[in-house]
Amino acid sequence: MAEDEAPRRAGFVAILGAPNVGKSTLVNRLVGSKVSIVSPKVQTTRSRVRGIRMEGAAQLVLVDTPGIFENAKRRLERAMVHAAWSGAQDADAILVLVDAKRGIDENTKKILKTLVKSGRKALLAINKIDQVSHTDLLPLAGALDDGTSVDRIFMISALDGQGVDDLLNYLLGLLPEGPWLYPEDQLTDITERLLAAEITREKLFLQLYQELPYSLAVETETWRELKDDSVRIEQIVYVSRPIHKAMVLGKGGQRIKAVGQDSRTELEELLARRVHLFLFVKVRESWADDPERYRDMGLEFDS
Ligand code: GDP
Ligand code: MG
Repeated sequence: MAEDEAPRRAGFVAILGAPNVGKSTLVNRLVGSKVSIVSPKVQTTRSRVRGIRMEGAAQLVLVDTPGIFENAKRRLERAMVHAAWSGAQDADAILVLVDAKRGIDENTKKILKTLVKSGRKALLAINKIDQVSHTDLLPLAGALDDGTSVDRIFMISALDGQGVDDLLNYLLGLLPEGPWLYPEDQLTDITERLLAAEITREKLFLQLYQELPYSLAVETETWRELKDDSVRIEQIVYVSRPIHKAMVLGKGGQRIKAVGQDSRTELEELLARRVHLFLFVKVRESWADDPERYRDMGLEFDS
């Protein structure tokens, strides 16, 4: 049957896992474009981001989620963990990612236990196999396979792509027949404005090393298309204390300048045009307790 005659299929696969196991890296690789930001720091992903992969008549929607961790105490942390679990609820399949090097940590244990309790089967993928020797993988796979709740275990490297095609083909095979959920040229459900703010937040995460303020947010304030086909973007970096503002600015404004350069370079690539990026740093003490900010991020305030 020719491709355009094949029945359309579509569905959601939610990706769950402890912080930092590579969920966003995997979503970006499967989508083939960056839709979700990545950093070596925990809690980089704050809300649910959907990435969309078209393959013939099939539309695979990947739901990237914030990492699930125990002892989420602060309001923002609780909202993030809640968003992760609710991302799994209506998905056609759940893929739990495990870090090959870190193995089954407390957070992963908790996730698997919760899934068993809910009676849902999950797929597992051991990620970052580029970082371990193959002889270490079998014992880990054995320890993960409880014989009941795990459908299948994949071994992948989201970073270099090993094993990802097998995983993709398997996921595509799971999709039920039905109409596509998004227009076929759409790559993500988040807007360009939001993605642009996320990219600046990623550069801040990457440049702030150990001193990353927990409550740092970026919002795109204005987005103006100019006559010469370039775009002027103004963003505000919100922090909750004056000392954090000084950290973000850096000596003589060096750090924010470097962040702005990195972000602009990536935005120009993403948008395929010239970008004029302006960053402002503001102190907003109570943002982490402001219901409206949670709405903007797609999170629930009272989680
Ligand atoms: P998330 O918190 O689960 O979304 O994890 P990220 O996708 O943000 O990745 C966390 C860190 O792990 C980043 O520094 C990634 O570059 C790195 N990472 C992700 N996948 C792999 C992989 O397959 N191999 C290696 N070596 N690093 C990876
Ligand atoms: Mg992430």
